Amino acid sequence: KELPADPNITNTPRKVFEACYSFVTPRKPSNPTLIHVADEVAEMLDLERDTQSEEFLHTFSGKTVYPKTKPYAMCYGGHQFGHWAGQLGDGRAINLAEIRSSGKPFALQLKGAGETPYSRRGDGLAVLRSSIREHLCSEAMHYLGVPTTRSLSIMLTGDEVLRDMLYDGNQEYEKGAVVCRVAPTFIRFGNFQIFAARKDHKNLKNLTDYTIRHFYKNIQSEGKEKYIAFFQKVSEASLEMVLHWQRVGFVHGVMNTDNMSILGLTIDYGPYGWLEGYEPNWTPNTTDSREHRYAYGNQPGIVLWNLVQLANALYPLIEDAKPLEDILENYQKSFDLKYVQMMSQKLGLTEINTETEQLIEDLQQNLQLTETDMTIFFRELPRVQKKNTPQEAFQKIHKSFYKPLELAGATTDAWITWFTKYIERLQVEVDRDETRKFKMYEVNPKFVLRNYMAQLAINAADNGDYSVLNELYEVLKRPYNEQTEYEKWYAKRPEWARHKVGCSM
Ligand code: AMP
Ligand code: MG
Ligand code: MG
Repeated sequence: KELPADPNITNTPRKVFEACYSFVTPRKPSNPTLIHVADEVAEMLDLERDTQSEEFLHTFSGKTVYPKTKPYAMCYGGHQFGHWAGQLGDGRAINLAEIRSSGKPFALQLKGAGETPYSRRGDGLAVLRSSIREHLCSEAMHYLGVPTTRSLSIMLTGDEVLRDMLYDGNQEYEKGAVVCRVAPTFIRFGNFQIFAARKDHKNLKNLTDYTIRHFYKNIQSEGKEKYIAFFQKVSEASLEMVLHWQRVGFVHGVMNTDNMSILGLTIDYGPYGWLEGYEPNWTPNTTDSREHRYAYGNQPGIVLWNLVQLANALYPLIEDAKPLEDILENYQKSFDLKYVQMMSQKLGLTEINTETEQLIEDLQQNLQLTETDMTIFFRELPRVQKKNTPQEAFQKIHKSFYKPLELAGATTDAWITWFTKYIERLQVEVDRDETRKFKMYEVNPKFVLRNYMAQLAINAADNGDYSVLNELYEVLKRPYNEQTEYEKWYAKRPEWARHKVGCSM
């Protein structure tokens, strides 16, 4: 390892200076049991023949340290909700090892395997509830085509973990669990920020060179140009990521700079949620319910804000603000352009002009007139045909409304106006209805991990029944396919789940 490590090898929480990471030992679970393996992740790691072995169980639950490996926790800082928070670090994540499989690098990381130097006041543990949410959602995101960290497995530890309950303020014991996350690297914006904040430019350079050498190999330039090119690439990758989030209606919930992967991967599945009613101001994070900083509609702007923080952190390596500012300015322009392209695809429109932009804008207004399920709306829209009247088209998307609408009234009028223009636009599309429909299906998923779905899997798993978890994992592997056998998961959120939100801890 070329990076300097913390000389202290205890897991006690503390400030760690001049080190990118600290060696730590995972906590031994008392009675680990495997409850789910993502088979394709196992295959990707060339582990598919081993998942039922004792070695797999012990390695990925933290019971034994794999021979010749040295687990470690990373040091990073971050801006939390817009404020610099100082040192954070892997408080409940431990990197087990870095491996290569089919020529690609993978870091294997346990989440919930106990205290590290970075645990601050936390216990370093995770519960079954949060682990199922992370495991299912990271896999679902992958199959949706969204850049993301992956999840290999969930193990029950056999230990109990004390947690505050979200609603009544009481504490309760829950089942402890450990997830094994997988990504080329888990380095975040915050890893760079901590060194910049401490004016440790030596380690800032070490870390940046390391990141470029291993994960941005295409960068050929040297000196300052190299760091500028790096920032450019990170900015592009982050833009791609958030564009996908907007496309599928994913709301991350905690876009602090320590939760921004340097590879533009979705990372840290905590209180995330999926838009059900299309509502730009919606956030699943109850601690953000006043400011709505990380609400759906704010996500692209927050990525930019986070990129500004990364630019500040990299500045000592570049010492010239102009190229960084140009990249940031370009992010905004590029996002606006790509957003229109993405929305046009969702609408099945190939030609983009000012009329298309107006149609998108008007649609966003209409979607908020009455609670309208985003996923269902975009999945039903492809059924609209060139020959339809606006009324017929409107009937086709009717099932996406949470409350039935009468065919009269201001809301209906706004929809009829919109469909009149939309159908007019469809007339100039060269694609036939069927072709357009299938293209639209490829960008408008039928199945997403709604909060209540994860909750049903959790409730069953709490009682030792993993059938819902298994079933959701299967459905979410093919989110763009019809899968009529799973029609029950293509449904609006049931009324009982309306004000329930997921919890991260
Ligand atoms: P998050 O909001 O999940 O990104 O967490 C922010 C910081 O708190 C990170 O440094 C985490 O590692 C740390 N953290 C979160 N939960 C725990 C926990 N249960 N024990 C220790 N550290 C934690
Ligand atoms: Mg985090
Ligand atoms: Mg977290």
